[in-house]
Amino acid sequence: MKITNKHNLPDAVFNFLSADNYTPGDNDYSATTLLRPPQMVQLEQRHWEELEEDAIDKVWSVFGSAVHNLLEHHADGTASVEERLYVDIFGKRIGGQLDYYSDSIITDYKVTSTYTLGNAGRMKEWEEQQNIYAYLMRENGKPVEKIQVCVFFRDWSKGKSLSGGKDYPKTPLMVIELPLWGMSEQEDFLKDRVAEHLWGEDFCDAFLPPCTPEDMWEEPTKYAVMKKGNKRATKLFTDKDEAKEFATEKGKAFSVLVRQGGRARCEQYCNVKNFCHQYREWKRVADGS
Ligand code: SF4
Repeated sequence: MKITNKHNLPDAVFNFLSADNYTPGDNDYSATTLLRPPQMVQLEQRHWEELEEDAIDKVWSVFGSAVHNLLEHHADGTASVEERLYVDIFGKRIGGQLDYYSDSIITDYKVTSTYTLGNAGRMKEWEEQQNIYAYLMRENGKPVEKIQVCVFFRDWSKGKSLSGGKDYPKTPLMVIELPLWGMSEQEDFLKDRVAEHLWGEDFCDAFLPPCTPEDMWEEPTKYAVMKKGNKRATKLFTDKDEAKEFATEKGKAFSVLVRQGGRARCEQYCNVKNFCHQYREWKRVADGS
């Protein structure tokens, strides 16, 4: 992958952001890779040399790595830190690197935005990832009684914590315990993910297993029926005609406001979108071309 410097960052900053200090484990699939959509993983592997990323877009991942590195050097001497574990499934070597394990508790460090706390999809992903780690631990003869994430909110503000809603974190750092599944549930989940990725290996780019709406962080377009002078919608619809009919029934003070949906991951967070047939087709229809 080529790292560009579109914002003309000073050399030292550019070199810092573009240095890749991550060493992949000796595995076919890592826990984090398994949780990504198979189409995205295949396209990234096949087109790696053609991909580009701008250094400025790496700021938060580099920041996250720096936090991990610092914490690694402040761990209790009896804890297991950044340990890599493996298990074989369907002939593939599956690996995972755990941030911290001590007293039968797995702790993973996360550096993220405050928005994540109210995002059910992201919380589910954390739960799945930690349960894969718990399975790796248990398969390697180590007990797990609790899994948790230690979350650093990079955009936390004290003012918003006082006035924000129930989903806004009250502190800039939170430890969140996640549901620990039974071992057979963990194994079934892991096998399903491995099978989906193996399936993806067999198809050419145009016929890769499509990403699901959940994978793409899809939000449908919504039609808000608004009363003149009100900031909140009287009622939300996913069907435009139903919204229009409702607004007409309510009277002249009501109108329909379109809240455009989208696929946030495709648009903003997927570095293979230029090679993705599913994205191109969706874009063609959305743009009416
Ligand atoms: S662009 Fe969208 S549909 Fe294509 S691989 Fe990325 S997330 Fe999936």
